[in-house]
Amino acid sequence: MLNEQRKRLEIQLRGRVQGVGCRPFVYHLATTHGLSGWVKNISSGVRMEIEGEDYQLSQFAKKLQMDFPSCGALSSVTEKSLSPLGNSEFRILDSEVAESVSNYIQPDQAICSLCLEELFAPENRRFHFPFISCSSCGPRFAIMESLPFDRELTSMRDFPKCSCCRAEYKDPNDRRFHAETISCKQCGPQVCVWDNKGNTIAAGGEVFPLTSNALRDGKIVAVKSDTGFHLMVDARNEKAVDELRRRKRRPTKPFAVIYPDIAVVETEFKLTDLEREILCSPKRPIVLINKGKCTISSSVAPNNANLGVMLPCSPLQHLLTREFGNALVATSGNISEESLCFDESLALERLKNIADIFLVHNRRTVRPLDDSVVRVVSNEEQVLRLGRGYAPYIQKSMGRKTSEVVLALGAQEKSSIAFATGDYLFLSQHIGELGFSSTNERFLRTVDDYEELFSIKPKKIVCDIHPDYTSSKLSLKMTAPSNQVQHHLAHINSVILEHGIAPPLLGVAWDGTGYGSDGSIWGGEFFSCQTKQISRICSFRKFGLPGGEVAVREPRRVAMSLLFEVYKEKCFDLHPSTPFNEIELSVLLKMLKNKYQTPETSSVGRLFDAVASLVGLVQKSSYEAEAAVQLESVIAEGVSEAYAFQLRGLQIDWSGVIKAVMADLASDVSVGVISAKFHNALSNLISNIVRDQSYSRVVLSGGCFQNKYLLERTIQNLRERDIDVYWNQQVPINDGGVSFGQLGLEVS
Ligand SMILES: [Zn+2]
Ligand SMILES: [Zn+2]
Repeated sequence: MLNEQRKRLEIQLRGRVQGVGCRPFVYHLATTHGLSGWVKNISSGVRMEIEGEDYQLSQFAKKLQMDFPSCGALSSVTEKSLSPLGNSEFRILDSEVAESVSNYIQPDQAICSLCLEELFAPENRRFHFPFISCSSCGPRFAIMESLPFDRELTSMRDFPKCSCCRAEYKDPNDRRFHAETISCKQCGPQVCVWDNKGNTIAAGGEVFPLTSNALRDGKIVAVKSDTGFHLMVDARNEKAVDELRRRKRRPTKPFAVIYPDIAVVETEFKLTDLEREILCSPKRPIVLINKGKCTISSSVAPNNANLGVMLPCSPLQHLLTREFGNALVATSGNISEESLCFDESLALERLKNIADIFLVHNRRTVRPLDDSVVRVVSNEEQVLRLGRGYAPYIQKSMGRKTSEVVLALGAQEKSSIAFATGDYLFLSQHIGELGFSSTNERFLRTVDDYEELFSIKPKKIVCDIHPDYTSSKLSLKMTAPSNQVQHHLAHINSVILEHGIAPPLLGVAWDGTGYGSDGSIWGGEFFSCQTKQISRICSFRKFGLPGGEVAVREPRRVAMSLLFEVYKEKCFDLHPSTPFNEIELSVLLKMLKNKYQTPETSSVGRLFDAVASLVGLVQKSSYEAEAAVQLESVIAEGVSEAYAFQLRGLQIDWSGVIKAVMADLASDVSVGVISAKFHNALSNLISNIVRDQSYSRVVLSGGCFQNKYLLERTIQNLRERDIDVYWNQQVPINDGGVSFGQLGLEVS
């Protein structure tokens, strides 16, 4: 007869519980408490049955939650009593096949400290092995073909375990017990170096010294990681960086830099505690930090106060950066804004005119991911690009449920997709700028991928109201019926959903371009959000964009347009930098006068362009928001003065600000002070409207709030007035978060 004190429990764990070493952890815990039973991965998480003495069981349950692996996260633990079976052993069972939605997926994890030690320990059998990993580190989402996270369902299935690895995998006392990515020099993936014709020029131990020497010689190297290719070059070699810019057709957009370790980073930059913590976290994003007086080449991030800095994520990156010993430019392996290359033969084809050599390996990337980009705002993390380590972003619906699966297709640049299922909201990784065939293809493949991975089929589709967005056009080819959501409403909803907040509130959506529901181009909008209704309550006075899209790339045109609105014909020779010759000017003025090919906009992004042009910083921009980035970078410290926007009824008039900028320029006020006064004016405007409309809650979203000075100052101003202020933190505040916000109207 069984002991009466004996009990058996079924416990189910949900959350980020697969691929984090959960089953080995449970095994250890159960066996040390003398419990019997089993544990296995199921599609919705982890299930176990545990049997033993009452006291031991409660100790087990307590420690299960308290000591759960730190790279995982429990969202729920449910228990059920079963009749004891009386068996004595504890086992890890094979996974159940995934059969339902709501799976949590484990993002890719940087190498852990124990594996890193082994990587550089000459006596270890994985010394210098570029694919060392264990139960709690290594690639996950990038190599996963389907759920659950089992070796046979990842690209590691190409590499059958050798007998040593098999023994470690089966040994409950080994830290690679049930590590799905386990491998070694005998059985694992291999690296080699190709020239740009695909001939192997180094393999094995030669790979890293050869690559490092090539980098020292100023060569451009395409480096394969598990999430896609990087193009790397010596970050302190001006000539090499310029050559990369020339070949990549990327004249000024900043590059990110990878450093061998945190100690080298600390010699170059003054980090805050949170910046250091994020840099070193297993997610290993690119962190935007203040450049200060660092020694890297000025052409890495020209005219920019910030620099994107990253630490090595994979053992391969550790081996390369440590061999090289200093900062390397590490930019996405693609051409301009197209999608990332991740397959080595395709990369060779597309990057052979950019890279001199290719460091490649034979582990397949299932799902390419860009590096995530984050920064610290008001001492909190803000994700600007969702990629490796952060993607997919998964959030519980928090009471805002849909009865059917909804797919949102996002915007045009910085495209992403999002899903609402019964219980969860998913936001995909950054896909790239739509319109290029490679990105369009990646976009459709990502839709299929998420549908398969989560076993969902959308019953409804939401897209932008812009008729020319590629995503809007693609929605017409999909079978489910589609709804359209205005761009800036989606921005506001992305914050409301992310923070789970409720109206009434004031929504501020400022960016470069979004199709307005009146057919004009919006970008400086204030919304009143009430329980049942969202309405636009005010917006910036409209002005012309002579040449439309061309004006978006040429701040000088926007500046002339504003001068024309303020000074009419007299504006002819007013632009202080005279960026046009006389013929160009008269054509431009004719366009403005006749409103010929001059669509109207209320965009705050374009106001930044105009001011950056007037003060002589940028006349033509080579990447999105370049003018705003440069204007922010020159802000003089400690300026509290501000220009003033006038609120006239439902319209915000900027003409006084333009006149004041012109007056300051005429009296030789410095560009830094003018920039500060302009930023301060925008921030004050928000506070004033909040005060006039007596809101106690404000939501900020849109690309303009990537401007750290503007965002932090606005947050501070509002908090001083006891206003609750919310902005996007885990969902990108730029167009990368639009798909997530498009779900807003569907799930409220
Ligand atoms: Zn590890
Ligand atoms: Zn092996």
